[in-house]
Amino acid sequence: MDNHIAITALNDFIFCPYSIYLHAVYMGSDEDIYKALPQIKGTIAHSGIDNRNGSRRKADIAALPVYSDELGLCGVIDLLRQDRGLLIERKYIIKNIFRGQLYQLWAQYFCLTEMGYNVESLAFYEISTNKMIYRALPTDADKQELISVIDQFRKYRPDKDHIDINPNKCRHCIYCNLCDKTHEDNVYT
Ligand code: SF4
Repeated sequence: MDNHIAITALNDFIFCPYSIYLHAVYMGSDEDIYKALPQIKGTIAHSGIDNRNGSRRKADIAALPVYSDELGLCGVIDLLRQDRGLLIERKYIIKNIFRGQLYQLWAQYFCLTEMGYNVESLAFYEISTNKMIYRALPTDADKQELISVIDQFRKYRPDKDHIDINPNKCRHCIYCNLCDKTHEDNVYT
């Protein structure tokens, strides 16, 4: 498949691969899971945020659409502090940093560096406590791990591949009441 995978979909895939299938079925389109490259580049061209050559060279950049042709990913970053080369993902509350969230931050990093931005450090920012949680830049091994997940994503077949059902995850899954893999009730209903 030539289309790029939305970075946010990687986190959903790590949570439960079957949720990607349900998303595509019940949201009526998988446009927000996959995007074609011309569409991504069009989004960037019209965003008005790409200021690499503009007067806001040193300003923070928020909500920048990004992509990586090498990894076949696209998405939107939260915040890049260009003066410090610091990429930040903001969340209201951070109890744990899950692997899928780390993959998202790494993916954003690889997109930005491929696009020519300088990124020297990564952090999550917990809004509720005003706390920065720094994370190391991905190593070569981390990149291979991310590539492996992307490969699994592209090869996933919901009608054939086995998934481990975790009732606790199901109860916190937004597709719980639509999912044919569980009889759990969603905690949100
Ligand atoms: S309800 Fe459970 S099995 Fe179904 S998509 Fe959600 S986490 Fe996966």
